[in-house]
Amino acid sequence: MTETIEIRIPELHAAKYLPAGTGVCVGGVARKLELSSDDPLLNEIGAIDASFRRQDRAFFTGWIIHRKYKKSELQSSELVHLRIQEVLETAGEEHGTQYDDSDACSVCGGGSKQASALCLDTTQIATKSDIVRTLAGEIVVSARFRDACIAGNLDGVEFREIFRAENQNTESKEWYQLFVGGRVSLSALTKVGNDPFENSIPKTCECGRTLGLNLLSEVAINDGYTIDADAFTTAELIGVRRGLLRPTHLVLISQKFFDVLAKSRIKGVAYEVSRVT
Ligand SMILES: [Zn+2]
Repeated sequence: MTETIEIRIPELHAAKYLPAGTGVCVGGVARKLELSSDDPLLNEIGAIDASFRRQDRAFFTGWIIHRKYKKSELQSSELVHLRIQEVLETAGEEHGTQYDDSDACSVCGGGSKQASALCLDTTQIATKSDIVRTLAGEIVVSARFRDACIAGNLDGVEFREIFRAENQNTESKEWYQLFVGGRVSLSALTKVGNDPFENSIPKTCECGRTLGLNLLSEVAINDGYTIDADAFTTAELIGVRRGLLRPTHLVLISQKFFDVLAKSRIKGVAYEVSRVT
């Protein structure tokens, strides 16, 4: 596995604080860096950012962690972390989807349950991806994705109708909501926090359901789970409840499911190894 961290820094800051020739200037306004996760420059960026934050400023404006695996590494992981790449700038709540918040945490929103079929304006799903998620973490898959899974005879994988809010709530024949049945729990080795430079212990919600804002490491799961399905969600949530945003469970899939998606060349997903601890 190779791990790199892509960071965006406003050009003015980059020109002043970074060594000359570091990264690539994008559009004249931002510097894009892609650094190996063991590059010593990361520590320097973290220290500069810490000094900026003491003045209520931020040194960088965005970051993404990229992990690349050999196929053999993915094939030797009992459960593969399915990372959905595209987020739709909408959520079911905006189009009449009902949620039951009677058991939900008032801080993180954990415990909220979807209480009706998913309603979306499906004209907003203008994508070439076969799998996307909404701001609320609702997982939307193409008919091609669903057909591949049905043909692959997967266990614990369910597809429910999505209703088209833009057309008198008729059922979509192109998009379905994915639900998965298995459950695993994240181990303490899974690193969660605001950003890759945060060295403090992540702030967890008192209710214990939401671990923090972003996943920073590979997924580590507690041993002792039962392989009784081809797809699992984590008991824990990651994210935040704000506006349409809701914290979401991570999704892990079996090797059988991974094989189905890889052979069908399903688009819009990245795969990562999960560690069992
Ligand atoms: Zn909470």
